[in-house]
Amino acid sequence: MNMELSRRQFLGAAGAGVAATALGALGFGDIEAAHAEAIRTFKLVNTTETRNTCPYCSVACGVIMYSKGDRTKGEQAEIIHIEGDTDHPTNRGTLCPKGAALLDFVKSDTRLKYPMIRKPGSDKFERVNWDDALDRIVRLMKDDRDANFVEKNKDGVTVNRWITTGFLAASATTNETAWETYKVVRSAGMLVFDNQARV
Ligand code: SF4
Repeated sequence: MNMELSRRQFLGAAGAGVAATALGALGFGDIEAAHAEAIRTFKLVNTTETRNTCPYCSVACGVIMYSKGDRTKGEQAEIIHIEGDTDHPTNRGTLCPKGAALLDFVKSDTRLKYPMIRKPGSDKFERVNWDDALDRIVRLMKDDRDANFVEKNKDGVTVNRWITTGFLAASATTNETAWETYKVVRSAGMLVFDNQARV
């Protein structure tokens, strides 16, 4: 550090009215440069913001996912950051520890991304497409309901129950989706009905 600064030199530097120049004259130029080098570019620059809902619990906090890669140009989009949505009426930008760790959940190697089936007798799951998965689910539900639907109880009272199949609903849905899910499940006579939020 140069401490051999004369009064004239100091006043000259101060007279320039620029703090950075004064620091440089005092021998702090390297610090300025190091400081400038240490300033990182804002990591969310040029990212795409996508609003979503935290999938973990029934609070259903709003999140913003920031991704890089322009899919309209054929690039692979990749989420690089997730944070609470400050405009969301439920959480106003806050997230609990589970929600704050959502990026790990999204990038987890064990994350289920498509329907899988373990066929009878098999010891492994195989990937199937959504059409086949939904067709199979609907077929099995229909067959089971036809075989086990209880229209009247032993006293002859109409009960319209279907208790041999259960339904697990997602908690990260809108009120409208939840309402429709409830109506479909209950109107089919299904009593075994729970929500992912309790798992
Ligand atoms: S951030 Fe936490 S409280 Fe909010 S929905 Fe996710 S798990 Fe629930």
